[in-house]
Amino acid sequence: MRRVALGREMPIDRPGGADPSTNLGAVPGLQTPVSARRAKGEIANAMTVDVEDYFQVSAFAGAVEQTDWEQYPGRVERNVDVVLGMFADADVRATFFTLGWVAERYPRLIHRIVAGGHEIASHGMHHVRVHDQTPEQFRADVRATKRLLEDTAGAPVRGYRAASFSINGETAWAFEILAEEGHEYSSSVYPIRHDLYGMPEAPRFAYRPARAGGLLEIPVTTVAVLGRNVPCGGGGYFRLLPYAYSRWAMRRVNRRDAQACIFYFHPWEVDPRQPLVKEIPLKSRLRHYTNLARMERRLRTVLRDFLWDRMDRIFLGDDGRA
Ligand SMILES: [Zn+2]
Repeated sequence: MRRVALGREMPIDRPGGADPSTNLGAVPGLQTPVSARRAKGEIANAMTVDVEDYFQVSAFAGAVEQTDWEQYPGRVERNVDVVLGMFADADVRATFFTLGWVAERYPRLIHRIVAGGHEIASHGMHHVRVHDQTPEQFRADVRATKRLLEDTAGAPVRGYRAASFSINGETAWAFEILAEEGHEYSSSVYPIRHDLYGMPEAPRFAYRPARAGGLLEIPVTTVAVLGRNVPCGGGGYFRLLPYAYSRWAMRRVNRRDAQACIFYFHPWEVDPRQPLVKEIPLKSRLRHYTNLARMERRLRTVLRDFLWDRMDRIFLGDDGRA
């Protein structure tokens, strides 16, 4: 096993420091209660978290071997606790797409997520992209992950999100397997053109893929601009572009398309003190480390500016609204 190259901690630009682009929301203290916002017909959007640690992201896969994961100082527990605190402060319930690897090592963290009223869903065992697995390997992985998460959480796992949104035209066989293994929905498609992922020809909103036993695919949100799908469902775009863009785009989806937005982020994005992983390409490095210190404040703003709920409640109609 080779030695893991860990740099010094990231330079900090003061967590909670001023982020002028987030000073655009409602006045704090004048927020309308969630029930009243719902009653007024405001669309509930899906807040989702991909529970993985900073060294497990696909962009680092060339520099960080899975067999070396144990050597990295874990930050995911601390970071998910930060996220749970933010959700509690904002009275938001969310869906946590969780790696089996994380649940195995931090079972009490899974209990805390469930105790907060959130949904546990599957992000696979080891963050392997679908196109790097055979159908047989994929089936074994999603089956084992679902069972592990359900045993740990004490609740059914109904949803799945592929690592790096890696279901596209070539890996559409995955939908059928997910359904056969008891999943009711997937959120694994990003209908954009991107160097690492994307399926630009996919529908922008929830649909039932052919021959997938009624499984619902719920793509990450895009906004249609001049005939192109532009990402607006969180991820790096939310952190790297000014907040005003995300707010404009998500409002447009809620109002013009009358659709719920699917938003996602990672626990490591609220952690400017995470160890720096060396030997990664400059582009990935910039994407990963830019604006980490601004992220928590920005998330608190988006939690306040929009109405949020869990994927299962919005799309499987558990509260009788769908
Ligand atoms: Zn992931």
